[in-house]
Amino acid sequence: MALVPAEELRSASLGNAVVAVLGYGSQGRAQALNLRDSGVSVIVGLRENSPRRSRAEEDGLRVETPSDAVAGADLVAMLVPDEAQPGVYAEVIDSRLKPGGALVFAHGYNIHYQLIEPRADLDVILVAPSGIGEQVRARYEAGHGTAGFVAVDQDASGQARSRALAYARALGEGRVAVIETTFAEEVETDLFAEQTVLVGGLTELITEAFSTLTNAGYQPEIAYFCCLEEVKLMADLIYEQGLASLWDSISSTAALGGLQVGPCVVNEQSRQAMREALSGIRGGQFAADLAREGREGFPQLEAARKRLREHPIEAVRRRLRSVAESEGVGPGGDKMAS
Ligand code: NDP
Ligand code: MG
Repeated sequence: MALVPAEELRSASLGNAVVAVLGYGSQGRAQALNLRDSGVSVIVGLRENSPRRSRAEEDGLRVETPSDAVAGADLVAMLVPDEAQPGVYAEVIDSRLKPGGALVFAHGYNIHYQLIEPRADLDVILVAPSGIGEQVRARYEAGHGTAGFVAVDQDASGQARSRALAYARALGEGRVAVIETTFAEEVETDLFAEQTVLVGGLTELITEAFSTLTNAGYQPEIAYFCCLEEVKLMADLIYEQGLASLWDSISSTAALGGLQVGPCVVNEQSRQAMREALSGIRGGQFAADLAREGREGFPQLEAARKRLREHPIEAVRRRLRSVAESEGVGPGGDKMAS
């Protein structure tokens, strides 16, 4: 595994470089604050009418328009949504980022699928935190960090790798693990995991198991707890202990049932579907679908979101949540923050 050694990370530094962070959403806020607290000069680039401008200012950051932020920077962190990035590169960055500057991505999509083709004199690097922005910030503040993946697509300065390592270290990733990868590997594995496990797989497993129980006459509230809420308990255990020790600690009943039924639910047909998903990612068909869906205004996505909002499992959730919230209890039975 290409785990970057701690001493190599410690010696990587951004020096006096100024980083323009474009966007102040999930990753933008987390990265801007972590960089700043690690001693890096940060300018946040936000549109004039951005609703997030006051938050960034209250956080003590210097805020400028995206164009001005880029013009004053050595590195530009592209932390606007993936679909907005090609436009932001063309309109804001291409003519303004200084020669020898660096473009930093948190996800390699637009570079990998050549939706952005950066100037040849720029370094193009990836520093992808393996976590959502809120975690990247909270874990940094708690004195630990979030693991990260780094890669270099274009090394114009000869310093691209060391810039990527220094940026990762300033985000706090060096306290956990920084792993070297390529843009292709980061993008293809990320999309594959979303499609088969995190989004596609989990959503289908949960809703289909819920429907199987309710169609058989079981109470929806019971089905909801068994098939949805308990996923959180399992995910926490898997994260903390790994799969093997989870299987050591669950009951024999749960283990035997899982052993008999798991491979029937996820079977050769599912494995074939996984291989097809991967080849659609690698061959660019998925990226072409996403581009077409975007041009048409995301009709399939809107329809899917509507279906989920109207799914019986949501009605149960709303009913249960409103009872719990009236008692001041948050998800998972914890006391709600007041
Ligand atoms: P967000 O959706 O949270 O970004 C919102 C910010 O982008 C806002 O400040 C918004 O501006 C700004 N923005 C949107 N469109 C434009 C535009 N056309 N011009 C200028 N600014 C714009 O993004 P994420 O943080 O979710 O994602 C950023 C990158 O990080 C992506 O590449 C994503 O794949 C990657 N990533 C995200 C993770 C996450 O935790 N969400 C995890 C790992 C990677 P305004 O304030 O004006 O609304
Ligand atoms: Mg992802």
